[in-house]
Amino acid sequence: MSYVDEVLELVKKKNASEPEFLQAVTEVLNSLRPVVEANEELYRKNAILERITEPDRQIMFRVPWVDDKGQVQVNRGFRVQFNNAIGPYKGGLRLHPSVNLGIIKFLGFEQIFKNSLTSLPIGGGKGGSDFDPKGKSDREIMAFCQSFMTELSKYIGADVDVPAGDIGTGAREIGFMFGQYKRIRGMFEGVLTGKGLTYGGSLARTEATGYGLLYLTEELIKCHGESMQGKTVVVSGAGNVAIYAIQKAHQMGAKCVTCSDSTGWIYDPEGIDVELLKEVKEVKRARLTEYAAARKSAQYHEVSAANRSGAGVWQIKCDIALPCATQNELLLEDAKQLVANGCKCVCEGANMPTTIEATKYLQQNGVWFVGGKAANAGGVATSALEMSQNSERLSWSFEEVDAKLQGIMVNIYHNIDDAAKRYGMEGNYVAGANIAGFEKVVNAMLAQGVC
Ligand code: NDP
Repeated sequence: MSYVDEVLELVKKKNASEPEFLQAVTEVLNSLRPVVEANEELYRKNAILERITEPDRQIMFRVPWVDDKGQVQVNRGFRVQFNNAIGPYKGGLRLHPSVNLGIIKFLGFEQIFKNSLTSLPIGGGKGGSDFDPKGKSDREIMAFCQSFMTELSKYIGADVDVPAGDIGTGAREIGFMFGQYKRIRGMFEGVLTGKGLTYGGSLARTEATGYGLLYLTEELIKCHGESMQGKTVVVSGAGNVAIYAIQKAHQMGAKCVTCSDSTGWIYDPEGIDVELLKEVKEVKRARLTEYAAARKSAQYHEVSAANRSGAGVWQIKCDIALPCATQNELLLEDAKQLVANGCKCVCEGANMPTTIEATKYLQQNGVWFVGGKAANAGGVATSALEMSQNSERLSWSFEEVDAKLQGIMVNIYHNIDDAAKRYGMEGNYVAGANIAGFEKVVNAMLAQGVC
């Protein structure tokens, strides 16, 4: 049995009740086969795969808090510190009722490779709670965040583990958590990222994931002898990633003609009006029907049982498709439609928006496909730039952060392209991303001995 298969068996046996974690490990290890086979003896002797699939530690704790009726509520908190071979653990805190240990482990494992790809010194970790922030008052949110941080503060620190936002954890939650950390530990340090601009946050963090996605896409297109100028782009989502992806694509001379939310999608052949979209989504927090009502050229399509959310976006003829909404939103039938319409390039702004079957179909039909691990790494890269600014006790200008972000994304593209070529898989940017991320971490692990 090959070393990869042996370790996959072992991971399955040890983590049988964690399907998401098993899926992530299986996908990553399978794509690493050529690297592992080329170094089998060394990796086996040093138990590299056994070590990289076992978190350094996984912390689970009780989070008691009092709701507005005076009732004590109890949630479960998690922090999985997966691997710190190349830097302090770094990864978001997800607050969502679906959160469990397996999901946090899956996200923490993936984070190791994404963080490594940024070329910045950050290890992999993830955390969160099964707490649902929806419908809670500000006081309840603060009560939860303070209780959560009371326990979490024992395990994190600016040089140890630096959590960030994720689903359900935005600027408000980060603020409450930062305040509690400061109170308990008696120190002001860059222990969390995604902070407000008045207390250590970084300019350009809001734009980072969407802008970064376009910097990488532009480099990919350029290396295939084309430019963004005049390209038609379809985007799904209408949140943080989608809005800034559309904005940057327009600045590059392309035209984005779609966006979507969970209740419907827009086709605007004149090009999405980003200022209007921001007004509807960021200011009014309204549905896309308001966008359609304010813009003559826009066609609105309601989601129905027969019309899956976002699906319509992939029917529109385009050169480039950027899924920026949610997981599993681009299915095999969508991939077929994109290929039939002549789409040349798909880069993922969201995490896992393209199903495995759709990914395979796109790759087999010559579409340049870059997965989220590489394409949306601009968010975490800019969080690492926030850490650098906090360590220096300086704030960089928007232009400075943005220029660094652009350099990082261009570099990521070349790293994943080179890695794929080195192992005879030219054009397979998914394998290239896993390999490039893995190699750096493994070299650091080997250099640091058995730990
Ligand atoms: P937001 O919550 O700001 O936006 C998500 C958007 O997707 C919303 O417009 C939402 O619609 C829409 N959406 C959600 N579910 C569906 C669905 N089932 N069908 C169609 N549309 C849907 O999130 P972000 O933009 O921050 O994140 C988007 C993705 O990018 C996620 O996968 C996230 O993990 C990933 N990501 C984000 C990063 C960041 O820095 N923000 C960094 C790296 C990855 P509605 O308004 O109706 O809820």
